Amino acid sequence: MSDKNDDTPSPGYPDPNEISRKLSDFLKSNFGDGVSFSTMPGGANPFASDGAPDPTGEDHDLQDDRADIFDFDLLPRQIKQHLDRFVIKQDEAKKALSIAVCDHYNHAQYLRRLEQDDPLAAERIEFAKQNVIVVGPTGVGKTYLVKHIAELIGVPFVKADATKFSETGYVGADVDDLVRELVRKADGDVELAEYGIVYIDEIDKIATASNVGGRDVSGRGVQTTLLKLMEETEVPVRNPQDIQSQMQAMFDQNRGKPSKDAINTRHILFIVSGAFSGLEKIVEKRLRQGTIGFGAEQTTADDAAAIKEAIGTQDFIEFGFEAEFIGRLPVRVVCDHLEEEDLFEIMKNSEGSLIRQYEREFEAFGIQADFLDSALEKIAAAAAEEKTGARGLMTVCERLLRNFKFELPGTSLTELTVDGELVDQPAKVLDGLLGEAETFADSRVVAELAAFKRKFEQEFGVRLTFEGDTVTGLAGLAEERGQSVLQLCEELFRDYQFGLKLIKKNTGQDSFPIPASALKDPDEFLSGLVVASYGREKKTAQEELDLGDPESKESP
Ligand code: ADP
Repeated sequence: MSDKNDDTPSPGYPDPNEISRKLSDFLKSNFGDGVSFSTMPGGANPFASDGAPDPTGEDHDLQDDRADIFDFDLLPRQIKQHLDRFVIKQDEAKKALSIAVCDHYNHAQYLRRLEQDDPLAAERIEFAKQNVIVVGPTGVGKTYLVKHIAELIGVPFVKADATKFSETGYVGADVDDLVRELVRKADGDVELAEYGIVYIDEIDKIATASNVGGRDVSGRGVQTTLLKLMEETEVPVRNPQDIQSQMQAMFDQNRGKPSKDAINTRHILFIVSGAFSGLEKIVEKRLRQGTIGFGAEQTTADDAAAIKEAIGTQDFIEFGFEAEFIGRLPVRVVCDHLEEEDLFEIMKNSEGSLIRQYEREFEAFGIQADFLDSALEKIAAAAAEEKTGARGLMTVCERLLRNFKFELPGTSLTELTVDGELVDQPAKVLDGLLGEAETFADSRVVAELAAFKRKFEQEFGVRLTFEGDTVTGLAGLAEERGQSVLQLCEELFRDYQFGLKLIKKNTGQDSFPIPASALKDPDEFLSGLVVASYGREKKTAQEELDLGDPESKESP
C-alpha cells in the first residue's frame, strides 16, 4: 500500500508536480491554451458523473478488505438480505446480481487457489465471466445496488458514464483510466484492484443502430475498446500519455520500488446499465411477430412483464450493440419504475433513507425533526410527479425544507414536526414557528444545549427534550449567572440520570420533556416525576410528560 510519503521522490530528484507545472507552462507558451497533458492517478477524478461528488460516497478504506475477497463465503441469499436493508423493491435485480456476484467471486477464489497449487491447470480453466447488464430508468437504485454490493464484499468500485468515453481517448476519458481508477480506490493495491467492480452507466448511449436515431458514430469504437477490457487485457498502471505518472514510474524504478506495472482485467466484474428507451418496443415487436396471440392490440400489465422477461441478445443487437459486446454481458437484469408507494417505503424503511439524513442535519442544529407519515405520503406523491425515481425525493425535500434549515437554526425552537400541513403550506407553518421562537443573540446557546442533550442520551440512555420557553429560560439564567448554557445544564440536571433511569425502569419511558417551570427547582421537579411513576400515579406522570400525543405515535 502506498502512502503519501512513498510518493515523495528521494533527494536529488525533482518533484513531479514541479516538473508537471513547468511542462504545462512550456506547452502553453509554445502552443497556446489548447494543448495540455493529463495527470490522471491521484489527480482529478473524471468518473464522478455530472461533476458530482464521488458517486460511491466515501472512498472507504479497503486496506483490511483484502483478506475478505480471498475468503469469500457469502451466499446469494445473504447478499440479497444485505441489499434489502437499503434498496426497496427491485427483487429480481437483487437476486440476479447476488447470484452473479457469488459466482464471480467464488470462481476468482477457486482460480486463485488453483494458481497456487497447479498454475498450468489454472491457465486452462475456462470461465464465462458473469458481467451484468442492468436495464432501468434513472433513479431507481441501479448504482445504489452496485455500490452496496461492492461495499459488502470489500472490493473497489468505480462508476463512469459511457458518454464520457471516446474511441481513441482524445475526447473525454480513456477507458483504461477506469481500471487505473480502481487501483486508486484500492489505495494503490493493484492485486485488489484486479478484483474490483467497474460500473458503466448510460451504456445505451453507445448503441449505434440508425433506427434508434441520433447515436454517436464513435459508439462502435467505444464498444470495441470496452470489449477488450471485459475480455482480458493488461492495462498499464501508469497512463502512457500522462507525463507526470510516467515520471513517477521512473522515480519508483530508480528507487528500486517493486510495483506491478500492469493491471490484468480478467477478474474485474463489469456491470453496465442504461434506460434503453425503445428496447421494450423492439422486444414487443419480436414477440408479436413470433408468437400467435401474444397480447391484444393494447399492452396489458402481463404483457409488460412478459416483455421484461423476454429481453434477449437479439433485441440488444437490434438496439445497436455489437453481438460480441452484448455476448460478454450474459446476466440481464431489469429494474422497475418506482411507484408512489415505493418512494414512501424508501423514506420510511430504507436504512439509507434521506429522511435519516435530514434528521441528522437538523439535529446538528439542536432541532429534533420528526417526519410524520402524513408528510411522507405527500412528499412521495410530489416526488413521483418528478419522474426521476428516488432522485425526485431529494428535489422535493430540498425545495420544501430549505427555508426551514435556513431560518430555524439558532432560534429557541428545538423540535420540528414535519406533517402534512407543513408540506401543504410550508411558508405559513414556518412563519408560525418563527413567531413563537426566539432568536438568540448568542449563537452558542442552541449548539451547547444540543451537545448537552446528545451527551446525556449517550451516557445514560435517556433523552431530555426542552420546549421553546425552557430554552429561553435557560439562556436567560445562564446570562444572569455568567455561565455558559452547557455549564448551567450540567449543574441543574446533575443528578437527573439516577431518577430518570429509575422511571425508565418503572414505566419504560425514555424521553423526558423539561418544561420551563422545572428550572425554578429542578430537583423538586425530578422528585415529582419519580413519585408519579409509581403505582396509581403513573398515568398522571405520563399525561404530564405529554406521552399521549397521538401524532407522535404516527411518526416513523
Ligand atoms: P440510478 O438507478 O440512476 O443509478 P441511484 O441508484 O443513483 O439511481 O439512486 C439515487 C439515490 O436514490 C440513491 O442514492 C438512493 O438514495 C435512492 N434510491 C434509488 N432507488 C432506491 C431504492 N430502490 N431503494 C432505496 N433507495 C433508492
